[in-house]
Amino acid sequence: MTMFINPGYIQKNNDSRQLFSLLTQYEPWELCPDCQIHKPLRSRHCEFCSRCVIVYDHHCPWLNNCIGAKNYPFFICFILTVFINLIHLIILNSIFLKDDYNNYLPNHHYPWFNYVINIEALNISKKCVQSSILIICVLFLFPLSYLIYVQMDNLFRNITTFEKYRQEEQTNVQGSKDKKSQQTINSTSSIKSTASHKLSCSNCIEMCCNNSKNTSYQQ
Ligand SMILES: [Zn+2]
Ligand SMILES: [Zn+2]
Repeated sequence: MTMFINPGYIQKNNDSRQLFSLLTQYEPWELCPDCQIHKPLRSRHCEFCSRCVIVYDHHCPWLNNCIGAKNYPFFICFILTVFINLIHLIILNSIFLKDDYNNYLPNHHYPWFNYVINIEALNISKKCVQSSILIICVLFLFPLSYLIYVQMDNLFRNITTFEKYRQEEQTNVQGSKDKKSQQTINSTSSIKSTASHKLSCSNCIEMCCNNSKNTSYQQ
């Protein structure tokens, strides 16, 4: 669903004359030169999709799709499902790793099983497969846990990943008092979010249900 649902692409404008009239109404950084449109609040142009996306979060290379206002709830469900599945696999594989097929012999229901199967080879292959699954799951657990933490923090603050890291970048620039860098970041900014970004459940509803319908984020 996350892969195939439209994340909230904004229709491109093919009439370059409109771009000139837009330039007289808006600041240059409020326009997208590629799509030739006025960018709505919280939208951003995706270089991979070559389109502007409403309430842009990030472009996910794993899903080969942008994460925007319309597929954000599916993305949250997806990462939570993968996380639960990973924990489930780690627990099951840890419990049954020591267990081997000797416990199931002799098999009275299927006597041929006792003669056909090489039980030692079967035990070794079982341990190899289970250990490999366990190692892969543990390796993926750490980056996925960090992703869940970042996304849950964003979800309950009504802030996107792009906005979060840009805010941090602005804070760093303010800290260093580098006026030139500050101007550069401000000029590339298209977001005038008035949200307080405090943790609350209403922000979760905003992110999952209301942002995709909010007219101020539409074109
Ligand atoms: Zn664009
Ligand atoms: Zn994209």
